[in-house]
Amino acid sequence: MNDACLFCKIVARAIPASIVYEDERLLAFDDINPQAPTHVLVVPKRHIATLSDLAPGDDPIVGELVRRAAAIAADRGIAAGGFRTVFNTNRGAGQTVFHIHLHLLGGRPMHWPPG
Ligand code: 5GP
Ligand code: ZN
Repeated sequence: MNDACLFCKIVARAIPASIVYEDERLLAFDDINPQAPTHVLVVPKRHIATLSDLAPGDDPIVGELVRRAAAIAADRGIAAGGFRTVFNTNRGAGQTVFHIHLHLLGGRPMHWPPG
């Protein structure tokens, strides 16, 4: 755990969140400032700051994040209509929390390109 990291604190239950899914390696919770009817963040329990910090051994956890986002979309009934999954990396792309998180957004039409 990184003591300065907000999402490590959510993983440790030091800060409350609306938990959507949990297993040994992952946590998914509702975004506090949702940008769509479904806006869930899927995070590894282990602290990884950005996609640029991934090591080859992290390939399985990244796969699990993506597969879990798709499973949550299916559970919410938004998969067929379409959903968006996003990793923001570094400040210029909008990353504000430096613990990797996959945004799952859906339940409304999505536009392209994103801003
Ligand atoms: P980023 O901008 O780093 O890609 O995404 C960070 C996300 O975390 C934002 O969508 C923001 O609304 C969300 N967020 C920030 N603080 C909290 C919090 O304390 N709890 C929850 N559940 N989400 C948060
Ligand atoms: Zn962290």
